[in-house]
Amino acid sequence: MKCKTDDRSSVAAVVVCAGRGERSGLPYNKVLHRIGCKTVLESVLDVLCRTEVGHVTVVSSPDDLDRIKEITLQYENTSVVIGGKTRAQSVINGLKAHKCDIVVIHDGARPFVTEDIISRSIASAIGFGSGIAAVKSIDTVKRVTSDGVTALPRDELYNVQTPQTFRYSEILYAYDGMTGSPTDDAEVYERAGFKPRLIEGDYSNKKITTPSDLLSLSGGCKIGVGFDLHRLVHDRKLILGGVEIAYERGLLGHSDADVLTHAIMDALLSAADLPDIGVLFPDTDERYKGISSMKLLSDVLARVTEHGYGIGNISAVVMAQKPKLAPHIESIRSSLCEALEIDKSRINVSATTTEGIGLIGEGNAIAVSASCILTENNLG
Ligand code: MG
Repeated sequence: MKCKTDDRSSVAAVVVCAGRGERSGLPYNKVLHRIGCKTVLESVLDVLCRTEVGHVTVVSSPDDLDRIKEITLQYENTSVVIGGKTRAQSVINGLKAHKCDIVVIHDGARPFVTEDIISRSIASAIGFGSGIAAVKSIDTVKRVTSDGVTALPRDELYNVQTPQTFRYSEILYAYDGMTGSPTDDAEVYERAGFKPRLIEGDYSNKKITTPSDLLSLSGGCKIGVGFDLHRLVHDRKLILGGVEIAYERGLLGHSDADVLTHAIMDALLSAADLPDIGVLFPDTDERYKGISSMKLLSDVLARVTEHGYGIGNISAVVMAQKPKLAPHIESIRSSLCEALEIDKSRINVSATTTEGIGLIGEGNAIAVSASCILTENNLG
């Protein structure tokens, strides 16, 4: 999706992404959270690019600058500036980076915004100076002071969202004279003597804040199961999860025979309702002779992602009498989570023997059973 480059370039947007978002429980900025094939920020940019907006300035923290720049490279007429210590300072930096007639200010963590809300906020700003997305308060709100608890009249209360759209010169003037710690752009605008005008937002236009909000990015879940077994023979390397393990024998197979990665690939493919690895990478195909299964895993990840899925978690158990796998488990998990681009907490690998019973127990084979949960992308 590309930003439009027609005569509507006097409308620009500032997307604020400079917050830390610590309440989300993620170890990274929530705008970079990805479900399936796109991040929260890409969802926002995709919607903006389908509207009258002709230029987007994304305001980033210094920590996220490289990643955010990488994302914005996909879009025309988009630039990135560094934010400030407060949201207000970040907005000022964004406003000053690109002049226009009408500016749409939007939170990078509101991916469910629609083209309709943005367009109506722009129309309101053109006609009346501002267009602030808001919804009527559903909950009863009470004011609590040292004097007691007072009910507030619900029909007068609105929950304010973004986009908040303004005549550029007016909001810039308002921010230039700003004092104190305003909670949103409309308050800055109002304090400068202008009258904010509300437009109807949408209850679904939620800001991603808490871990449960992140769950709302996902649609349903799909479970997948995979199983594989390879024979242990002399003169072969033993590779599990992309890690070579020193042992007198290795697994026999057409590829590198990485039985763990094979079981995980089949679990992912089965959850995504895609053909299994025997169909995708047949052992009669010379292209796959001796290939690293980690290459095949990247291919599988791309297929699963293209179909709109993100990885919820993966759990696998390796059945081997020998060698002892406990010392290798952490490096195997690291290898797999790097290849799958997921946090280590989302992949678990355990090991068991079969008490000396059968082909595995006699040390002649290793088998793996793997399960996974895929989450369906709920982003637009
Ligand atoms: Mg196999």
